[in-house]
Amino acid sequence: MLPKTKANRIRAPALPSRMKPALLSLLTLTASLHAGDFRAAAAQVDITPKNGTPLAGYYHARAVAGMLDPLYAKTIVMEQDGVHAALVVLDVAYTTQALVDAARKAVQEQCGIEGDHVMISATHTHTGPTLPRLNLMDKLTKADSPPGVAYMQSLPDLIAKAVNDAKAKLAPVTPSFTIADGKGLSFNRRVLKEGSTQAIWQPKSFDPATMRPAGPVDPEIGVLVFNSTAAEPRPVASVLNFAMHPTSVGGGVKVSADFPGVFTKLINERHGPDMISVFANGCCGNINPNDYFTGKRRTHLQIGALLADATDAAWPTLKPLKTFAPRIASIRVTLQRRSYTEAEIEKAKDIATRMVTKNLGTVTMAEAVCILETIGKQDEPLSVEVQAIAFSDEAAIVALPGEIFVELGLALKKQSPFKHTMIAELANGSIGYIPDSRAYPQGNYEVVSARCAQGSGEALVEAALKLLKELAP
Ligand SMILES: [Zn+2]
Repeated sequence: MLPKTKANRIRAPALPSRMKPALLSLLTLTASLHAGDFRAAAAQVDITPKNGTPLAGYYHARAVAGMLDPLYAKTIVMEQDGVHAALVVLDVAYTTQALVDAARKAVQEQCGIEGDHVMISATHTHTGPTLPRLNLMDKLTKADSPPGVAYMQSLPDLIAKAVNDAKAKLAPVTPSFTIADGKGLSFNRRVLKEGSTQAIWQPKSFDPATMRPAGPVDPEIGVLVFNSTAAEPRPVASVLNFAMHPTSVGGGVKVSADFPGVFTKLINERHGPDMISVFANGCCGNINPNDYFTGKRRTHLQIGALLADATDAAWPTLKPLKTFAPRIASIRVTLQRRSYTEAEIEKAKDIATRMVTKNLGTVTMAEAVCILETIGKQDEPLSVEVQAIAFSDEAAIVALPGEIFVELGLALKKQSPFKHTMIAELANGSIGYIPDSRAYPQGNYEVVSARCAQGSGEALVEAALKLLKELAP
């Protein structure tokens, strides 16, 4: 019963056949002058929503009323020998297929970069705008209200502007990579109590004698830095990759990019005027910033500063990467939906009639939303995209379409043929939580709200490994 994969495609550098011979020879000449030049640049465009725009993150309606810090669409464009790849990260809670399709179309039309060379992920800030998902969540959060729809419709052109701005600044760079130590900053939010097989979610108190985390964390901060190759090399862009829910600002109504905003801003400030950093969130489906062992909570300002300090401590260990022209591959994977008993469906219907006006608890509401969506779409397969971009025999970036359990991310990194593999979750669309197989029988929030059947997460890891093996030299 493993989910099936469909044919994949690998994009090789190719010139459009319609190009005229004169233009072709000019391009060939230009390419030969720049042979071996690996170029990159970053840009950002403000995407802070207007007051009144519906907010994401929780199972009730909140509307934007003010701002703690701005939200951005940030992009890094890489290019060699005429092949471009664009990484886009949005300070929003998730991406949707509709948004990604529209944004790729806009990038292709306005920037001349193939849509399938674009990777679009979300930082998962819980104090950012919500996007319509065509399910019951739209009713709860008012995502499909006119301000919600208008916000989503504004994004593709803003993303294309960020990509165009970066493309216009492309200059030779040397990428370098290191791993910083984020130990002690993130926590597995699922806990098992002695004698029970059922997971406790976000425990209020923790007894070390009888309780233990249900799984690991990923303490690695992936740090990819692009240095200009000018006479005096300067960092111009970085990709920072860490797996943790941005929930430290809480459920307020002032927008904030949460800790990823603080983290990237500090790295930019400390490394010079040309620096733009993007934060790609890793496999953080079950990972939170709250210390359940001691009950201690850090603010987004504290978390961002700790991540920046850890990154800077590792900065001297950055090692230059040998590069090649970006290689981009994607594969569509068809996942199975969950199945439910009649009793479960009836209960979900009852909850749904009451939950729009009353808070019935996150887990109860999440489960009902998932069941009703699933029974309404039984004939519609869960078709998702897994994408990988490689530009060095030592480094690749993988896009996964949901909130992925950390165990799956650790397995993917470990088995990857690349020395360094960054993973961006909530990328190129999202189907919600994607637990590992072991977590399903343990139940609770992420499991009951997962739309995909047990085994789906492992199928995505398998698909990603297949792509990475194809892209590896
Ligand atoms: Zn989440």
